[in-house]
Amino acid sequence: PVKGEVVLQASNIRKEFGGLIAVNDISFSVHAGQIVGLIGPNGAGKSTTFNLITGVLAPTSGRVAFRGDDITGLASREIAKRGISRTFQHVKMIADMTVLENVALGAHLRGGRGALSATLRLDRREEQSLFREAEIQLRRVGMGDSLHELAGNLAMGPQRLLEIARALCNDPALLLLDEPAAGLRHKEKQGLADVLRQLRAEGLSILLVEHDMDLVMQVTDRIVVMEFGTRLIEGTPADIQASPLVRAAYLGT
Ligand code: ADP
Ligand code: MG
Repeated sequence: PVKGEVVLQASNIRKEFGGLIAVNDISFSVHAGQIVGLIGPNGAGKSTTFNLITGVLAPTSGRVAFRGDDITGLASREIAKRGISRTFQHVKMIADMTVLENVALGAHLRGGRGALSATLRLDRREEQSLFREAEIQLRRVGMGDSLHELAGNLAMGPQRLLEIARALCNDPALLLLDEPAAGLRHKEKQGLADVLRQLRAEGLSILLVEHDMDLVMQVTDRIVVMEFGTRLIEGTPADIQASPLVRAAYLGT
């Protein structure tokens, strides 16, 4: 992506579940090389917004554009292939496989061949290229020294980094992170913040759902605050911290 390019544009996206309006006509954008925070109390509609962007759910109305192309309603696999990648709130990995194997497997699944073919024998060259890609992405998040450790032995911080490395395979332009700091200790959070800043410096765009306000205030360029499915306010971290609206609605002060 070119610097300043609008990577993601959500326009009046709406999601109704029966009578409940989970996401109520919200609009926001993410530019190339920006980290945008998406915050708000539980039930505000953050996860639903992620699902609308990644094609897990189709919006009731509204549009999602990625790098200028309308991706509204496309299948999640197609959206992933175009360059939007995500992590989940709960880490999913295979405990008795190594870190490298876990990421290589993720890269294989992301390549669009499905879970079944992963259990079949891969072409030697194909296998090598998956492992090479996995290693590159693990080094990118600072996990180069842990390639051959068992994933099940990792502390929470490295587990989150493994997830991010997996999401980086196939070179997405936009990364959606769902609470990457949940359960991390202070030092691990600082490590995560460094990785996110590094990825941004490389030109990646990130949409960050996170409850840890320290991390959000440290790394984001802009913040969208949601409440009851609507966009309460949007601004820089300084704007958000100073907003009486946000204090009342979200920070509870
Ligand atoms: P957040 O991630 O901000 O905590 P969610 O997007 O998960 O909020 O939820 C927003 C609202 O939509 C909540 O009231 C939630 O109960 C409701 N909701 C989310 N997913 C579904 C679903 N699949 N079916 C019905 N209601 C849902
Ligand atoms: Mg959620």
